[in-house]
Parts: sequence; C-alpha cells; structure tokens
Amino acid sequence: MLTCKQFLQELNDYLDETLDPKTRAELQRHVNECPNCWVVCDTTEKTLRIFKGMEAQAVPEDIQKRLWSSLIQCLH
Ligand SMILES: [Zn+2]
Repeated sequence: MLTCKQFLQELNDYLDETLDPKTRAELQRHVNECPNCWVVCDTTEKTLRIFKGMEAQAVPEDIQKRLWSSLIQCLH
C-alpha cells in the first residue's frame, strides 16, 4: 500500500501517463481509497487541463507546488 507521500511524489507522472502499468494501478488504488489524495489528484488534473488548453507549453509548476506544499502540510 502506498503512502500519501509516495502518491504525491508520483502524481505528476501519473497525470502525464508516463508510468508503467503496475505503478499506475497502485496509484489508482490509492486514489480510490484516500479522499485527500483524490481531491489533490482531481484538482491537479483539472488545473493541468485548463492550463494545457490555454497554452501549449504551460505546466503550471507554480500552482502545483503551492497545491502540493499545502497538502503536504495537511498530512503532517
Ligand atoms: Zn493518500
């Protein structure tokens, strides 16, 4: 079972769909069982989608960092 911290470390690749199927399945399982990570995953995914729609090269790292750091604080 993944921890939330591990999940967040892999989240970027998960959303980029660059993970191998096994890791991806583990992340999928975590997000299904963990409401906190589900919210982060959902929010990040939507944010990425909006930014990608606006600007081809845009990966909103600034927003991601802020989102993740606030979540990691919640977990501690
Ligand atoms: Zn979690």
